[in-house]
Amino acid sequence: MNDTEKRSRLYEPLFNMPHLAIALLDKEFNYIEVNETYAKSDNRSRDFFPGKNHFVLYPSEVIVLFRQALETRLPVQSVGRLFGSADASDREIIHWEWALSPIFDEHGEVDMLLFSLRNVTNKMRAKHALIKANENLAHILESISSIFYFLDTDYCFTYMNKAADKHIKSIRPDDMLGKCIWDMFPALRESLAYEKLHTVMNQRVSEHFEILLPYTNKWADVYVYPSPQGISIFFNDITAKKEAELEFARTQKKFATIFNTSPTIMSIRCLRTDRYLEVNEAWIDAIGYTRDEVIGKTPKEMGLPTTPGAETMTDVFKARQLPFKERPRQFHTKSRGVREGIMSASLMELNGEECALVVTTDLTEQRALEREMQRLDKLNVIAQMASGVGHEIRNPLTVVRGFLQLLQGRYPDSAYQFNMMISELDRANGIITEFLALAKTKPDEQKLGSINDVIERIFPMLRAKALEFQREICLHVSNTPEVLLSEPELRQILLNLTINAIEASTHDTQVDICTYHTDKDAIVSVTNKGPGITPEVKKLLGTPFFTTKDHGTGLGLAISYNLAKLHGGSIELDSNEEETTFFLRLPLPLGT
Ligand code: ADP
Ligand code: MG
Repeated sequence: MNDTEKRSRLYEPLFNMPHLAIALLDKEFNYIEVNETYAKSDNRSRDFFPGKNHFVLYPSEVIVLFRQALETRLPVQSVGRLFGSADASDREIIHWEWALSPIFDEHGEVDMLLFSLRNVTNKMRAKHALIKANENLAHILESISSIFYFLDTDYCFTYMNKAADKHIKSIRPDDMLGKCIWDMFPALRESLAYEKLHTVMNQRVSEHFEILLPYTNKWADVYVYPSPQGISIFFNDITAKKEAELEFARTQKKFATIFNTSPTIMSIRCLRTDRYLEVNEAWIDAIGYTRDEVIGKTPKEMGLPTTPGAETMTDVFKARQLPFKERPRQFHTKSRGVREGIMSASLMELNGEECALVVTTDLTEQRALEREMQRLDKLNVIAQMASGVGHEIRNPLTVVRGFLQLLQGRYPDSAYQFNMMISELDRANGIITEFLALAKTKPDEQKLGSINDVIERIFPMLRAKALEFQREICLHVSNTPEVLLSEPELRQILLNLTINAIEASTHDTQVDICTYHTDKDAIVSVTNKGPGITPEVKKLLGTPFFTTKDHGTGLGLAISYNLAKLHGGSIELDSNEEETTFFLRLPLPLGT
């Protein structure tokens, strides 16, 4: 066996490997021999090739590389599309990975070229598909409006999309790539992002958070995902949404402040359940329940009193008569009875529930004041008339009384009738005198004096009156500063109040007179036990000629109110089912 034979025996198995196409070429690139795979790949037989020139069969620029192998005596490797026709579709193109290795003779000269090719079409297709997929991914990342960054395991920027380029205007994208995020944005080290990004990187879990970015002062909604090469960060600018949220929170806070500090009575009730969800301080003060007694309860559960037959707010809610504005309404309190006010109700949403915000202004005091004004007005008219008419009546009465006395002597048999007539005239005169007191718009001369002294002087008279009615009367004086007063007028007031108290008191009870003072007023209070004064009567008190008594004149209080006013003071009362107290307040002179 010669060398050639040995060699061919050695190379034969290699030469015939099915996945390699192999050709032996001489230095002019003529075929010496090809293997089966080579011949088949061009649909030819092995015999076809020997003697034929490679570049005559397949003219191609690759000839440069072939020559290079000859000159450099080094193997050449390349990948190419071979054997396919120029206009072949992608499917038909076969990709070859080829190598050209020089084979040397015994003198070290290039003798032959071993041309080996491997079909790598499938591999190329997969690679292309991968490239294509990556391109698609990049395309998607570029076209989304979310900002996208990719950080490698050293927290360096390795990729950013178009939206990210625009995100930070002062920094060029190229300046960021390759840089560490913490060096680039040191402020982020102090932020939530530092902790979150580390969690994703180290624990390979995804994270979602919102953050106010320190370098743009914008809010971002951030998603961070782990990937084998690092982490991907997606985020959206949610500044507008966040600002709206903050604005909402601010509005809510403002509402809460207004709600809590307003002197107007306010409550929020759930329409579905009728429960109180919130009430303000003014509500608690006015209605008299504690916060714990109200929140989460319905008026019924709280035992809030109602006027029988009258429409309640619950009825209003049920009938959906909402919203309404400034409706006059009565409302109930825990202990102070029915109050008058105007109410407004508007709809609002609280925690997803439809609620009514009910705003009430308590006008009870104002209404009382209005009535008082009307009463004073009436009093004024009457007072003016009284002064004129009073004298006109008194004069003829005096004349009649004089003649009656004159005639009395002549008719001794009718003494009883005469006395009767004279005493009735005296009574009429007394009424007129009292009535004239109403006409007073100027006070008598006022001097500094002690209310205690005045009371002590008239007390025997008061006690006599009490005894007449079989009542006790008790005086409790305390040291009170002197006030400016006219003694006859003060006496008249005290007589009126005390006589009224005696008349109104129940059998076998006592009337108490107390004196005390505050830093503004000296006060006399007159208290009696009795069934109290009904609201209807209360409204009319002080109106001249208003009386509930068979023989009353209805002038006592009217005069007393007027006299108190002339002293710069007032008369107030407090009445319940058990007792009634009238308070006379006289102002302390300035500097007391
Ligand atoms: P008169 O005593 O002549 O009726 P007043 O002006 O003194 O007139 O009183 C008016 C009305 O006020 C009385 O008729 C009575 O109904 C009521 N009143 C006054 N004081 C009291 C009191 N202490 N308790 C209950 N009612 C009273
Ligand atoms: Mg009276």
